[in-house]
Amino acid sequence: MPKPVTFKPGSKITLADIDPRKVEGDWDKESAKERIDENTERSRDLAYRLYAENQRALLLVLQGMDTAGKDGTIRTVMTGINPQSCQITSFKQPSPLELDHDFLWRIHAAAPRRGEIGIFNRSHYEDVLVVRVHGLVPEAEWKTRYDRINDFERLLIEGRVKIVKCFLHVSKDEQRERLQARLDNPDKRWKFSKGDLAERKLWPDYQDAYEDALNKCNTEHAPWHVIPSDRKWYRNLLVSELLKDTLESMDPRVPPSEEGLDGIVVE
Ligand code: AMP
Ligand code: MG
Repeated sequence: MPKPVTFKPGSKITLADIDPRKVEGDWDKESAKERIDENTERSRDLAYRLYAENQRALLLVLQGMDTAGKDGTIRTVMTGINPQSCQITSFKQPSPLELDHDFLWRIHAAAPRRGEIGIFNRSHYEDVLVVRVHGLVPEAEWKTRYDRINDFERLLIEGRVKIVKCFLHVSKDEQRERLQARLDNPDKRWKFSKGDLAERKLWPDYQDAYEDALNKCNTEHAPWHVIPSDRKWYRNLLVSELLKDTLESMDPRVPPSEEGLDGIVVE
């Protein structure tokens, strides 16, 4: 099976060296769809067991530039999973209340509870991405955040939350096409804002910020997965595979039933 790009903690990754159009093996849109359907069915069963077991949680963190496909990935990989056992959080600009706290306050509050699959559509990484690119806090502050993020992720893991972090890697050309498609399609226009063009101009700054976040927060306990995302079907295939593999490795178990239930007939 094709795998995301991963790298050893301590070794350096350069985004420019990873082709966002990359496809491993002879997969195509049709075969990927079949495989994704199988994966979702399997993940559905495993998510049910995780929920029944009620001991551990799984957190999928999705980061990527505008149009990288965070929403589309969630739609595809979560279809069919019991909504009661999932919690999806989209992080927007922090509210005044959130800004009055440490940047991890709102993140910790959204962490999945036991038995759940939590998905972060954007995350604490925004606090070293958009915040850094726009200078929303002084450099002396954001520079300390990488270590604090690593410590925070360890804290979650010690609370039995398995963390899977994905960076959806799109090219600047692909982003142009997707932004233009949003403009040209009346049903998609709501997704477009003029601000997206201003952000696009900052592309190199964002790539640098992403590269630092990937390199400084690629730990043994919570490694990064780079998902080549110019092809939507391949992106979905990789993330659905990763979700299924992670749930399989967790191997959740339905708890044993009460003793002495054999032979009981409900009247
Ligand atoms: P969207 O994902 O398109 O709904 O946009 C959400 C917006 O919120 C993006 O522009 C993010 O960069 C922004 N955002 C998310 N987290 C933060 C943060 N911690 N500080 C500032 N902006 C943020
Ligand atoms: Mg947006």
